[in-house]
Amino acid sequence: MTGPTSTSLASLARPMTDPFGRIISYLRVSVTDRCDLRCLYCMSEDMTFLPKADLLTLEELDRLCSAFIAKGVKKLRLTGGEPLVRRNLMSLVRSLSRHLDTGALRELTMTTNGTQLARYAKELHGCGMRRINVSLDTLDPEKFRAITRWGDLDKVLAGIEAARAAGLAVKINTVALKHFNEDEIPQLMQWAHGNGMALTLIEVMPMGEIGEGRIDQYVPLSLLRARLAQRYTMTDLADDTGGPARYVRVSETGGKLGFITPMTHNFCESCNRVRITCTGTLHTCLGQEDASDLRKPLRASAADDLLGAAIDRAIGSKPKGHDFIIDRRHNRPSVSRHMSVTGG
Ligand code: SAM
Ligand code: SF4
Repeated sequence: MTGPTSTSLASLARPMTDPFGRIISYLRVSVTDRCDLRCLYCMSEDMTFLPKADLLTLEELDRLCSAFIAKGVKKLRLTGGEPLVRRNLMSLVRSLSRHLDTGALRELTMTTNGTQLARYAKELHGCGMRRINVSLDTLDPEKFRAITRWGDLDKVLAGIEAARAAGLAVKINTVALKHFNEDEIPQLMQWAHGNGMALTLIEVMPMGEIGEGRIDQYVPLSLLRARLAQRYTMTDLADDTGGPARYVRVSETGGKLGFITPMTHNFCESCNRVRITCTGTLHTCLGQEDASDLRKPLRASAADDLLGAAIDRAIGSKPKGHDFIIDRRHNRPSVSRHMSVTGG
């Protein structure tokens, strides 16, 4: 796979700063909206997926990512849908790894549900990936099947094992769900920390129609944190990510526990990230409907000038922040996109 020429990349080279002075250095790329699972809070059972013809090719995704890297992106996360179900994804990962070799990119990483990790973990590590996030909401096989609609927990656990054996640091992401896993958090934490993995808890966000009300799923992390504090000693850690997670060290386990609280705490002031979808739409805020089409300028010219200008325009109108609402009066998604389209 070949990227753009160095001349066209040079024409892009201006750091991306938004109207609020935030420097954009983190890109999340949803490489597919498809998935081999159907988590209840993420997708409806009968999701309509994008026609394959609408997707950017892997070569186009590479060109788009490379343009962002030339404009100062240092960290790139592949996500989805489930990134590892995109056919031939490893050719994109391999190709993007050239930016790690040159030092232009500091980190290439991925968020995955883990079902395909046993197959791909070694190759991911071989391409310079060093850390991944694996989403896992329960350690109970029946509950896992229920929340994912048909998933096999053993497959995911084997995937996590394979990743760790391959030398990838694994962080577990768990969406906190009322009446589902809220009582299982201590067990999940003990398991993750006992295996040398950090655990991050996420508040469920109102994204996309999923066929049932969010009010039944939402539990504020402040409540879970207060419950954990009765059993564990938690010390705040300095924020070193610029991201939405706030971390504590848990004395009893020695492990790291993170909280992502889009609902109870707005984390927008330090936001350094933007997202692109598998159709080349740029979303500069997870919680707003703003969208810029990058596919058109990408396809309009082999040089990257039009693309660079379109990126600059979009960054120049990045919203200040989001305002998710879940309550009985607003029992509908604040944002119509599913998380699987935007990329979590
Ligand atoms: N399929 C991969 C996975 O599950 O890790 C990557 C994509 S998934 C959309 C990324 C993350 O978003 C997962 O950790 C998932 O639990 C989370 N997620 C999905 N829908 C969500 C929602 N409505 N609110 C909060 N987190 C959500
Ligand atoms: Fe698939 Fe990830 Fe959404 Fe679950 S959270 S349905 S694994 S995209």
